[in-house]
Amino acid sequence: MIIELEPIFQREGAVFPLEYTFSVEDDVIDSDIRVSGRIFNRTGIVRISATASYSGKTNCARCNKAFSFEVSVPIDHVLLAQAENEDSDLYIVADDLRLDLDALVCEDVFLAMPSRFLCRKDCKGLCPVCGADLNEGDCGCKPAADPRWDALKDLF
Ligand SMILES: [Zn+2]
Ligand SMILES: [Zn+2]
Repeated sequence: MIIELEPIFQREGAVFPLEYTFSVEDDVIDSDIRVSGRIFNRTGIVRISATASYSGKTNCARCNKAFSFEVSVPIDHVLLAQAENEDSDLYIVADDLRLDLDALVCEDVFLAMPSRFLCRKDCKGLCPVCGADLNEGDCGCKPAADPRWDALKDLF
């Protein structure tokens, strides 16, 4: 979605509500991305303040179980009409007074994505000996003996 910012920049107090969805091609993102919020001009400063939410599906990096999750990512930036600053976390420069909102939202969504997904924070993962899912209970395996200790034992 391309937003024409000119009317928002021109009028103090202008509010442009955002309520839309768009689709992305991604291995993890399993739904449309829903954007909800607004772009507004308060005392000449134009900001976007919105939330992007989606559901995802992936495999846990520790136990490899497939799981689904819901995420909300804040989309908060000051929009500038002139390129006196480079884009940064805080400022987005909309040179021609047009904002490619899908691109901006995608950038924020992918920046917020973790590099490793865990099914839960304290996932115990798989037993390195038998491969059992340790979240479902102790499999009874002893930690593998370190052969270096056996060699030391022989010395005494
Ligand atoms: Zn897990
Ligand atoms: Zn085991």
